[in-house]
Amino acid sequence: MNNKLYGKLIFELSHPGRKGCALQQLPASHHSATDLPAHLLRSAAPRLPECDELTVARHYTNLSHDNFGVNDGFYPLGSCTMKYNPAIDEEVAAIGAFAATHPEQAMHHDHPMLRIYTQLRQALAELTGLSEFTLNPCAGAHGELTGLMIIRAYHEHRGDAARTKVLIPDSAHGTNPASAAVCGLEVVEVRSLPDGTIDVSHLEELLSAIGSEVAAMMMTNPNTLGIFEPRVLDITAKVHAAGGLMYYDGANLNALLGCCRPGDMGFDVCHVNLHKTFATPHGGGGPGSGPVGVRKGLEAFLPLPYVMVDAEGRHRVLTRREERPLSIGSIGAYLGNYGVLIKALAYILSLGREELRHVGPLATLNANYVKEQLRDTFLLPIDRVCKHECVFDGLADKSTGVTTMDVAKRLLDYGYHAPTIYFPLLFHESLMIEPTENESKETLDAFIAVMHKIAEEAQSDPEMVKTAPHSTPIGRVDDVLAAKHPVTTYWKSLEK
Ligand SMILES: *Cc1c(COP(=O)(O)O)cnc(C)c1O
Repeated sequence: MNNKLYGKLIFELSHPGRKGCALQQLPASHHSATDLPAHLLRSAAPRLPECDELTVARHYTNLSHDNFGVNDGFYPLGSCTMKYNPAIDEEVAAIGAFAATHPEQAMHHDHPMLRIYTQLRQALAELTGLSEFTLNPCAGAHGELTGLMIIRAYHEHRGDAARTKVLIPDSAHGTNPASAAVCGLEVVEVRSLPDGTIDVSHLEELLSAIGSEVAAMMMTNPNTLGIFEPRVLDITAKVHAAGGLMYYDGANLNALLGCCRPGDMGFDVCHVNLHKTFATPHGGGGPGSGPVGVRKGLEAFLPLPYVMVDAEGRHRVLTRREERPLSIGSIGAYLGNYGVLIKALAYILSLGREELRHVGPLATLNANYVKEQLRDTFLLPIDRVCKHECVFDGLADKSTGVTTMDVAKRLLDYGYHAPTIYFPLLFHESLMIEPTENESKETLDAFIAVMHKIAEEAQSDPEMVKTAPHSTPIGRVDDVLAAKHPVTTYWKSLEK
């Protein structure tokens, strides 16, 4: 937009004395009415922007136009499952009786919110083939930590506290080793084969060397390359034989929904991301939800508060350790992010048993379609049927010097959100595309045509691609500087 007010900060639009509304002067007696200690009181007025109401309204409306979401366009961000979140789920979650219930109210004996909790945890147990779920964790990584704490508590309860190591494939999502470290466990890396699947002979070596110290192995299946581990049953059997438990990173359950279940593959503990597969919009940090399921025999370790259902079907929330002595304890306030739980249940119920079965196969079909259409211009390092996402190793022709970063930036000019880039780390120029089940063939074809066009531009005008984006409010930012010296407030930026 060619408008000199557009793109400015609200502080830059400020004029001393401008007002959006006029408040009545408070009686003098109200001014000093405070019991706060003097050192907590500010000594100078806050620096607030002073603008008229229309300027404020336009400013924030314009800012919202700079945003990009699934409802704006195709968003093939691999491993993130940026799929369409049906409006009905938002509407259900916004119903007054749900949205206005205080979390403390929902802790009351037989509160209807508790029945929703139970209905959702039973649906997830059925979808994953596990025994019981807690819905308390508020993110995928939070679920990983919860699951690992359960595993550690299980080993300690058996008097086997020497199990302090966690096996994690080198293709794993970064949160896996991070969660293990936060849980006080040591990460041991399992190598991948050139085709991206787990090197089972390396796993065997590790198990024979340190098997008695292994608390668990964490696995993502399909892995972060979108490839289903063909030897998963073999792997879970081997780890079990060594006394370790199997942890399933089900953040990307979308690929398997309705097709197969972690419980049937031999996993003992699993988390799923409701904000990826089950209809909660994500990005920008939440709110999310990472429920954790366990197989039979591990239920006693689930966190507090714990929702108990008695023989008559009445619900009660247990919060005290004496009532659940083996529980790992509380991992957060109340019973998790209720709004997200309601959206997930609404999503599951609105699709129903039959429609849910189509999610995984359609997500897989779309990813394979994109893979086959792009394989002539982009380098396909693993040439086999993928699941919900496909990974390229940059452009096939590397001679132009156009990188995956350049392709991603150029896509912005064409109105697409970039795919995930430089992850997984197994390739130098990873470009990870996850179309999800919701996209029409027309949408996929239009994206494929643009990807071919960018490959052509890389030949005819590589400089233009290397300097993209050309149409966004800002061009390329210095990633390293932004990470090392983040300037997060306007006032701080003026100090420089
Ligand atoms: C997204 C993701 C996670 C982490 O989930 P958060 O909610 O972002 O903490 C873990 N593992 C995989 C494979 C993921 O894609």
